[in-house]
Amino acid sequence: MGTGSSHHDGRTVEPAQWAPIDKSAADIARANLADFARVCREFSWAAERSQLAGLPGGGVNIAYEAVDRHLDDPTGSAPSLRWLPASGGCTTLGCTDLVSSSNRFANVLRSLGVRRGERMCTLLGRTPDLYISTLGAWKAGCVVSPLFSAFGPEPVRQRLALAEATTLVTTAAYYRRKVAPIRDSLPALRHVIVTDTEADLPAVVELPSAMTAAEPEFSIVRTGFEDPALLHFTSGTTGTPKGAMHVHGAIVAHRATARFALDLRAGDVFWCTADPGWVTGMSYGVIAPLSLGATVLSDEAEFDPQRWYDILTAERVSVWYTAPTALRMLMRHGDELPSGTDLSCLRFVASVGEPLNPEAVVWGERVLGRPVHDNWWQTETGAIMIANIAAAQVRPGSMGRPLPGVDSTVLRRGADGRAAVVHGTVTPAEVGEVGELALRAGWPSMCRGYLNEPGRYAKAFADGWYLTGDLARRDGDDYYWFVGRADDVIKSAGHLVGPFEVESALMAHPSVAEAGVIGTPDPVAGELVKAFVVLRPGYNPGESLRSELTAFGRRMLGAVAPKQIEFVDSLPHTRSGKVMRRLLKARELGLPEGDVSTLEAAR
Ligand code: AMP
Repeated sequence: MGTGSSHHDGRTVEPAQWAPIDKSAADIARANLADFARVCREFSWAAERSQLAGLPGGGVNIAYEAVDRHLDDPTGSAPSLRWLPASGGCTTLGCTDLVSSSNRFANVLRSLGVRRGERMCTLLGRTPDLYISTLGAWKAGCVVSPLFSAFGPEPVRQRLALAEATTLVTTAAYYRRKVAPIRDSLPALRHVIVTDTEADLPAVVELPSAMTAAEPEFSIVRTGFEDPALLHFTSGTTGTPKGAMHVHGAIVAHRATARFALDLRAGDVFWCTADPGWVTGMSYGVIAPLSLGATVLSDEAEFDPQRWYDILTAERVSVWYTAPTALRMLMRHGDELPSGTDLSCLRFVASVGEPLNPEAVVWGERVLGRPVHDNWWQTETGAIMIANIAAAQVRPGSMGRPLPGVDSTVLRRGADGRAAVVHGTVTPAEVGEVGELALRAGWPSMCRGYLNEPGRYAKAFADGWYLTGDLARRDGDDYYWFVGRADDVIKSAGHLVGPFEVESALMAHPSVAEAGVIGTPDPVAGELVKAFVVLRPGYNPGESLRSELTAFGRRMLGAVAPKQIEFVDSLPHTRSGKVMRRLLKARELGLPEGDVSTLEAAR
């Protein structure tokens, strides 16, 4: 990693330190968004919407737009799924396979009595079953809620319960470890479909035999633009995870933004490394590339630098959408590793999810032959909002500019660090001033609500703006620069972690009286989850209890468990009794206590 004023924990990066990267005239000419200014001027979501095929006879359904519509495409640019199993080899599912398999899955749901509007969770790794069951569930009119397969049993239980999912699709191994022990506490869960054949598992449906018995034809449920399609859980500072609800019409934004921000088009080999358990893996790992007629590459294996370079070469990846943590891990393995790699097919590289340090942008240009194009969005926005695009100068450290159809701003803050709302009105910040990033409500993939929490959703809006909870500033050319979060959520290896969820899990251990959880800076993962723990009387702080608690956290929470645990005698509290995580963070960073606002200066 370089020196200078760049940081991986969301701190300010001085624009002037990193030379902008210009694009050649040829690069600009061949980009989807070659004339950015004109498209911004002329753009309308209504015109984008009219590019959907629509269900024969009316209605819109994501699965139809993703696969079925391509069956009659005269240009022949049909999408496909190219799956690389962890064990080696590859399997390709063409468009016809995707259509018939998802039809079969929809028939499986129907035969179980699963009805339109019911919620189906998936707890699967990157396997074809994930794509097929997701597409099939949409065809059956169900709402899909993908769960991150590295979650431990507690986050899985909580999300299944909040979703009131009636159906779960998972593997026999995940079922045994994470769901069977808690199934009795999930009264809404009527059906568990396991993707492998395991004769000794009671009360589950085995997918392979159910698929064989199902018909390959299905008449897609006539969903409308505003019908719910997806439920993505995301974390807040307090309370339970928020269930962001997205509609079938969101595909209008998935398609447009993938064309604009990822330069994606029919015939591309597209690799999105995000797990489909998170919003990026769904919007851009499934929906956008299939609907645009690209080949979706899906690698089952965990990160491995040599494997990744081999995939880029052997699969002739043309557009690659990855994440800062992954790029930093590649950078750590040195520039020699990819030296013999043929990346001549790689046209565009993009990254999302956490601050992308300028070194990584420049490294991309040097080692991959393409700068990394950072872009910004979040679960609630459903699609990319701000991006460095193929046809424009990249400013290393900046997230880029708002896409056509996106009206964004930075709002002046009040004493609580969030956008100041005075008599219902907000005020834009000056150029260069740090404020809360906000988006004018109304783009098609905006989340339509938080499940069962209308109040929490309403609070996210002021004066017609959706308030993102992120702090940013804008330069004179409308490039946005990420500064940090306005709240206490943690971004670790690209995963949004709610401190409250981690604190609650730790407090289930008999030794823990109280816990306060923060993100602590890490050069690769951006932040690591760190817990400060006050013990109950009679328990001794020491290595053995620390290891026990670490293992306990890991068993309950899986990948979002705290990596570090520090025992303390007490935690700082507000007058109303809430743990002051900001003060814990200030202490952790060695900043003067008492003045929590100094945290901001450190960003
Ligand atoms: P999620 O809802 O899990 O996708 O997380 C969204 C959050 O990730 C945003 O609100 C930001 O805090 C952070 N994030 C996403 N993209 C970027 C980016 N390009 N730079 C910095 N932070 C980002």
